[in-house]
Amino acid sequence: MEGGDIFEVYAVRYATREARSGEHFHGPGHDPHDAPMPMDYFVWAAVSPEHTVVVDTGFSAEVAARRGREHLRCPTEGLAALGIDAGSVRYAILTHLHYDHVGNLRKFPTATFVVQDEEMAFWTGRYAGRALFRELVEPDDVGYLVRANFEGRLRFVSGSENIVPGIEVHRAGGHSAGLQVVRVKTAGGVLVLASDATHFYANIEEDRPFSIVSDVPRMYGAFDLVRSLAGSLARVVPGHDPLVMDRYPAAKEGLEGLAVRIA
Ligand SMILES: [Zn+2]
Repeated sequence: MEGGDIFEVYAVRYATREARSGEHFHGPGHDPHDAPMPMDYFVWAAVSPEHTVVVDTGFSAEVAARRGREHLRCPTEGLAALGIDAGSVRYAILTHLHYDHVGNLRKFPTATFVVQDEEMAFWTGRYAGRALFRELVEPDDVGYLVRANFEGRLRFVSGSENIVPGIEVHRAGGHSAGLQVVRVKTAGGVLVLASDATHFYANIEEDRPFSIVSDVPRMYGAFDLVRSLAGSLARVVPGHDPLVMDRYPAAKEGLEGLAVRIA
């Protein structure tokens, strides 16, 4: 079908927290200003006449309370406000397995979850339980995915692959072992949902890696990959930047502060 591989893209904001800029850049004293720099939490959706693809699934109110995050709403409620029923979503791309990206999996009972081999291997492997890593995931989320694999509900990818026409994933790594970014074809050209390859616009624009790092050289490499996939930084959507809510219009009237239409 003509235009069947052209997607509309939305960011759904579901949680937030106060933070300071010094927390968001790698290395001690790397940010001399240390000013207030809050962090938002998002899931994303790409919608075409033929496909609805959700990118990440957020975290639950219970996890938010335990980790001291301000939960605004369940990500599935934000998706519902866009007319997307989590209960019937066919594909959910999981950019990486950190707790803020793969909670609420049970609310997507019909989804196939798209994960990179390297990410799944890491979180079921030798170093997942070590101090600096174990706090970044909820063991229940990883366990859910292990079980989903035995039910045939994981689609493993390794590197770069097409998921549906118009949507590709690309392994970037760096922030986590097998972090993947998503390139989407839209009416205005391609767009890269970078997730935590760049938490804020500032990370990639200023070439300053985020503080939580699995592999520093690969994090720089992820910046390069995202730049080349997007063609222009104006076509990059960072994973946690409140500026996303300012730069794009509300997805529809009444959804101000909740969801924006990126493309
Ligand atoms: Zn994150």
